Amino acid sequence: MSRVQVLRTVAQVRAWRTQCLFNRESVGFVPTMGALHAGHCHLVAHSIKENAKTIVSIFVNPSQFAPHEDLDAYPRALDSDLKTLEKFGGVDAVFVPKVLEMFPVGVDLEVLKQKGAFVTVHGCLEQLEGALRPAFFRGVATVVAKLLNVVSPTNVYFGQKDAQQCVVVGALVRDLLMDTTVRVVPTLREPNGLAMLLRNEYLLPASREKAGVIYRGLQAGQAAAGQTRAAAAVVEAVRAVYREMDPAWEVEYIEVSHPTTLERLAEIPKEGATLLTAVRVPRAGGTARLIDNVYITCT
Ligand code: AMP
Repeated sequence: MSRVQVLRTVAQVRAWRTQCLFNRESVGFVPTMGALHAGHCHLVAHSIKENAKTIVSIFVNPSQFAPHEDLDAYPRALDSDLKTLEKFGGVDAVFVPKVLEMFPVGVDLEVLKQKGAFVTVHGCLEQLEGALRPAFFRGVATVVAKLLNVVSPTNVYFGQKDAQQCVVVGALVRDLLMDTTVRVVPTLREPNGLAMLLRNEYLLPASREKAGVIYRGLQAGQAAAGQTRAAAAVVEAVRAVYREMDPAWEVEYIEVSHPTTLERLAEIPKEGATLLTAVRVPRAGGTARLIDNVYITCT
């Protein structure tokens, strides 16, 4: 088990990064909010394969939580996360900043009360997940911009599971002329097709098993796209599978969107499209939202 170097300040990360530069070593960076699971390790594996050095950040970003969302309840498991990374092997450093290290003047969860610099990527924040959580992607873009300024990675890794996040970050890096390459890693799934995520652990075992219906629906959409360019027909193919779903589950959206702008599409263009869905599933003490997506093409 290799020991991972824990860096707590911006200055420490910059010194570590400068050393990599001196050694002419490429740096892969995996930003996370911790409570690491196999999905995160999947990103780490890609980074290790493609870079001389890999650094992971663990930071529960307050700016992507709304005041009514329970920031304090987000799981924090630093000791076990470090063990997970050490056991996995190949990670050189972990950046674990405190809130004031990332937000030097602090951060209010209410957007109107916030002070200082925040990053907004217009055009891809308001739809899909952004419709439910209006300030969410502003918070994501802000913290990713900060982290990229600190780490200056050669490559930065994000999971396709969070397709909208990938679009926001891609636009951020492109428009702010950041010197890094965004690498999008395919979704790691459980054997029944359910995208692996932290919230799966909160699901009742029966729901977790039944949640395979979401990926089966998306696969049906993929198959339909082979026969038609009409987005409505693709959505209908997903819905047909979703009819097997537990009636207590609520389908929030099934949408065909442009892969780089997330604009809603009526027809699948020749470059293909993203088929996205969100389903609300009851769990003990509330509901869990399961999101997923696949790439679809007509050819
Ligand atoms: P989070 O800690 O939830 O912010 O996730 C950190 C990164 O891990 C994000 O880029 C996620 O998209 C990615 N990720 C989480 N689960 C998976 C998964 N099952 N497959 C691929 N990437 C994932």
